[in-house]
Amino acid sequence: MNDPQDNRTELLRAIRDEVVAFKESPLYKERIRNRAYPVIGEGNHYAEIMFIGEAPGRVEAQTGRPFAGPAGKILDELLASIGIARKDVYITNVVKDRPPQNRDPLPEEIGHYGPFLDRQIEIIKPNVIVLLGRHSMRYVMEKFDLSRQIEPISKIHGHVFEASAPYGKVKIIPLYHPAVALYNPDLKDVMMKDFQKIKEAIEIPAS
Ligand code: URA
Repeated sequence: MNDPQDNRTELLRAIRDEVVAFKESPLYKERIRNRAYPVIGEGNHYAEIMFIGEAPGRVEAQTGRPFAGPAGKILDELLASIGIARKDVYITNVVKDRPPQNRDPLPEEIGHYGPFLDRQIEIIKPNVIVLLGRHSMRYVMEKFDLSRQIEPISKIHGHVFEASAPYGKVKIIPLYHPAVALYNPDLKDVMMKDFQKIKEAIEIPAS
């Protein structure tokens, strides 16, 4: 519930300001050189569901918005398939600046930006965390003491893991990254089925 006493917007703004000025990041120079934006996250600050992708791509770095490009279109379709509006969830990435040529984020980069994501989770307090792709899967599952359950995404996509956050129980669902459907359209049906798990997860409270 929205609590007029809490200061989520202020706390999230502080994260934005810190990321904007994050000169220690190896990706900062690249951002300035390309006149690009960092991508902090967007959506409902009281969202029940938080989606965590990997890192901004070209369109995201041009606009400052997560999943604003082709992968975002797929994400929108998948959300629509379960009747959930983008404005009702919170969407972010582990890494907040675009890696050059859209390469995978390096462990060092994930290490630099991970603490911002940790804070976003503690501010928004989602009941369900959806991990889009293997990088957010690894980072978040390790953070929530689920290291022993980590397997290739092809094996654990759509599984619902339960974990404890400082604010209560949380369900963690690793899924294929939406970009996968761009080069492997056959997987779209699998992804749609997996999205149903999100719907079930918000309907059934954590035990
Ligand atoms: N891929 C991601 O992981 N995140 C985005 O914001 C866009 C594409």
